[in-house]
Amino acid sequence: MTQEMSESQRTLRLIQYPHPTLRYKAKPVRKVDFELFTFIREMFDLMYEHNGIGLAANQVDLPYRLFVINLTADPSERGEELVFINPEIVRRSGSEEAEEGCLSLPDVRAMVRRSKEVQIVAYTPSGDEINWRLSGLLARAFQHELDHLNGVLFVDHLSPSESLSVRPILQDLEKEYAEALSKGQARPLEDVMARLKELEVART
Ligand code: ZN
Repeated sequence: MTQEMSESQRTLRLIQYPHPTLRYKAKPVRKVDFELFTFIREMFDLMYEHNGIGLAANQVDLPYRLFVINLTADPSERGEELVFINPEIVRRSGSEEAEEGCLSLPDVRAMVRRSKEVQIVAYTPSGDEINWRLSGLLARAFQHELDHLNGVLFVDHLSPSESLSVRPILQDLEKEYAEALSKGQARPLEDVMARLKELEVART
């Protein structure tokens, strides 16, 4: 049996800016069960479909502190898959600027300054503690994804001039979302929040 799932079998979908869950502070995971494993698998599949290297739970409308990374963006490289549950940065050093994009903000790319190295703590789905020092692209991806869990987007870190240059794209996305809301194609804020609270009760 293949582990790939067809789109119709999926329970998760990618959400885009300015969906309110992207601004939600995700809660620590206290219970790892079969459903959570299913979510993690679906997150990887969605990430590969959109050529991403990282995906946080908020981006699939889930309120949990967890994200997945595969720097190769290649679904055949299963050995490169990393899952971080309840991740934290315990130490930072240096700083470095590089271009970033985000699956929740299609067509936006901009330079972001981040710590060059980070000492991190997290848990694997089987409950093992990870205690790593990260640098390079993995350090950047980790910081980008951890931001998501705190309701922070990479566009929040831009310089005033970069901020100005991406503004029109954000405004278009905001307009699209407002239209979807008015047509009943997007769920109202109260519904989004009520669902997140329900999911939290189940697992945090
Ligand atoms: Zn992102």
